[in-house]
Amino acid sequence: MFKKVLIANRGEIAVRLIRACRELEIPTVAIYSEADRNSLHVRCADEAYCVGPPPSAQSYLVIDKILEVAEKTGTDAIHPGYGFLAENPEFAKLCKDHNITFVGPSAEAIEMMGHKTVARKTMQNVGVPVVPGTETVDDDDVLASRAKEMSFPVMIKAVAGGGGKGMRIVREEKEIKEAIRAARSEAKSSFGDDTVYVEKYLEEPRHIEFQILADRHGNVIHLLERECSIQRRHQKVIEEAPSMALDDDLREKMGKAAVDAAKAARYWSAGTVEFLVDREKNYYFLEMNTRLQVEHPVTEMITGIDIAKEMFKIAAGEKLSISQEDVKMNGWAMECRIYAEDPFNNFLPSPGKILTLREPSGPGVRDDSGVFAGYEVPLHYDPMISKLCTWGGTRTESIQRMKRALGEYVIKGIKTTIPFHQRVMNNEKFLAGNIHTGFIEDECIMETSDDSEDLMNVALVAAALHLQRKSREGVGTAGPEKTGTDAWKMMGRRSRWVT
Ligand code: ADP
Repeated sequence: MFKKVLIANRGEIAVRLIRACRELEIPTVAIYSEADRNSLHVRCADEAYCVGPPPSAQSYLVIDKILEVAEKTGTDAIHPGYGFLAENPEFAKLCKDHNITFVGPSAEAIEMMGHKTVARKTMQNVGVPVVPGTETVDDDDVLASRAKEMSFPVMIKAVAGGGGKGMRIVREEKEIKEAIRAARSEAKSSFGDDTVYVEKYLEEPRHIEFQILADRHGNVIHLLERECSIQRRHQKVIEEAPSMALDDDLREKMGKAAVDAAKAARYWSAGTVEFLVDREKNYYFLEMNTRLQVEHPVTEMITGIDIAKEMFKIAAGEKLSISQEDVKMNGWAMECRIYAEDPFNNFLPSPGKILTLREPSGPGVRDDSGVFAGYEVPLHYDPMISKLCTWGGTRTESIQRMKRALGEYVIKGIKTTIPFHQRVMNNEKFLAGNIHTGFIEDECIMETSDDSEDLMNVALVAAALHLQRKSREGVGTAGPEKTGTDAWKMMGRRSRWVT
């Protein structure tokens, strides 16, 4: 096993990985930016080193600096977590060149799967169905005519895409040129690559993915599926395992396709093969994520397998100790991603100091958190502060526990998405498992107002007091006229901010 591991990440995932190392009795090294000096992962690690100023481009993404810390601390392995350098083949390669084990797959597998059309081709070659679509096309006119041939709606997608960026839905021919331009420009600024292609847009699909574990000796297994259809702007916010949409037969077929996909990429480590499943239960390969996923805890909860620890064992060259037959599904797990965002104000980030924090606990509750009371949530990074997970013998019990845990969760000082999750957990269609990737928009989760006049009045009084205080304190430009306008706007937007 490794002598010392550097965690090239921050927040909850850095804490999660430090915990795995502690159980494996491996000392850890944390890195941090100046904005994260007082963060939880720094406190949890055995050693911690500052790698630069707050912007990630000057700290968490500076490969030279990270390798320098690794060398000076005698680190022999680096876990990249997710995001930042996790899917950067150059980083994986440079670790190898420095005789440091990258706790993830090979640079070649990352590169192949990081390019959406190369990945699609690889899957087609081994008979895994992919969403119908084109190769990459440089000429906008040619791309537009290929989209037309495919019939609308279509989706323009960046080959280097990730995090829901660089994609545009096109429903009519007249929108196509502008959509191509917008997708290219977003892809260029987010990934430095404006190459795009077209996929058929599937209406109301489910996003279902399979967790893979593969060792360096050619053994590949899957750890069943996760249902990730509850999304905002193509980004997952609630996940569960298993999926209500799969029966044993479909589970077996998709699981085999996922294992075939990993074998085709000569994959080792933990990884995820993502699929879209349409209403007729046809499944299509979407992409493979060559890293630990945010939502890995729900799989851990239903299989009892610690995926983070398995990653370290695989990276150290150990053979998988579990076979496909050993993987058993036990109960049901849910995950709610808790963000420092204001769900009543268009999910605006809500950085700031956490004044009070009481995390839920009790039977079947797991909270993978990166914060503590007194911690200041910085503005510079992804605002996810914790992942609240619950386990139950059935889906109903898991949801009941989630409702109970969300109710117990007290975070004061910043706004969080807890009220949003509470609404989803009480939504009839969600409770019936009747979901798809457009569920949140279709159900207008944050648009529906409560009929309670009392709540309305309380909120109006609170708003009036707030505006009065602002104008007294002379904050901003809140003069009487402005105050009137703001108050009117708020009343007009009643449904948005009255719970
Ligand atoms: P990213 O790499 O940016 O995460 P993905 O290709 O994984 O992008 O897609 C993210 C989400 O976007 C999917 O879960 C789904 O909701 C939606 N999506 C992507 N491609 C399609 C498609 N062809 N049809 C319908 N929805 C899609």
